[in-house]
Amino acid sequence: MALTHDIELNIAPGSAPVACVDIGGTKVAVNIADAAGVRGKVSEPTAKEGNNDALARQIIRMLGESCALAGVAVADIAAVGVATCGPFVINQGMVELAGPNICGGLAGKARGLPNDWVTALLEAPLKATFPNVRVENDGVGALEAERRWGALQGVANCAYVTWSTGIGMGLCVDGHILRGKNGNAGHAGHTFVSSNDDALCGCGNVGDVEGLVAGNAIPRRFGAQGFADAATLFVAARAGDAGAVAIVDDLCDVMGRTLYNMVATLDLQRISVGGSVFWHNRDYLLPKLQAALKGKLPALTDGVEIVPAGLGEKVGDYAALALVVA
Ligand SMILES: [Zn+2]
Repeated sequence: MALTHDIELNIAPGSAPVACVDIGGTKVAVNIADAAGVRGKVSEPTAKEGNNDALARQIIRMLGESCALAGVAVADIAAVGVATCGPFVINQGMVELAGPNICGGLAGKARGLPNDWVTALLEAPLKATFPNVRVENDGVGALEAERRWGALQGVANCAYVTWSTGIGMGLCVDGHILRGKNGNAGHAGHTFVSSNDDALCGCGNVGDVEGLVAGNAIPRRFGAQGFADAATLFVAARAGDAGAVAIVDDLCDVMGRTLYNMVATLDLQRISVGGSVFWHNRDYLLPKLQAALKGKLPALTDGVEIVPAGLGEKVGDYAALALVVA
């Protein structure tokens, strides 16, 4: 299933260039795309010092640098797609970031962030410079990429799930991307589906899905048992180590319940799954996740497909582009 070559983007010839922005807790990346391809990539650590418009100002500066590298005039950028970690709050109609991995005013002293932001401004400063900006959660961007180029093409009721350092999702029902009151639909990684509450999530919840099964939960929960990271755990499980197999089965029980709950709640037809934890072990994990749905309330689950991401490890690379490509 792994893609060994770049995907065919099929951007209409003559389309105006668009800019793609990916915001993560540690890194911001910007590039430019048009019918000639994707280019001008620049990447920096996420700005977290100064006033709470620092991240937006960083992005505007990087957009200029990316345009220069790509040989495109800033004024010719037709649209800016922003795929970002969340969650969001909406202030006067504009998306601001309210993630405890960026905003020190939310994270508390223990996180060591060099700011006291409660939100990081994003959409308003960008729109003051660029007329056409679309900001979405990175799970929504990945969903759009899978719908356009990947395993969710032509599926009106579907979801993308990333099982990676964290857990993220994008949801589509009746052909419509779900957003919600603050653009946070799809944060099911922070739902509770198990009575196990031994794991603190980065969001502050104890025992939610991400706190239990995400890549960053594995060393926290199982380091003392000799599994310092996801790779170590899965190597041991694949080799038949009984302790590791039991742990992985437990992780799949939690993730399987999550997927089932998504299907039961939204009446989904297909879920595509990506992310580094899943992708590197997809042959091992996929049957376990599929088994979590099989036979349960057949009217809801018959024919539902859990599939590997069509864009493989590259889903995230195309998330921002998918938000704005013509
Ligand atoms: Zn959480």
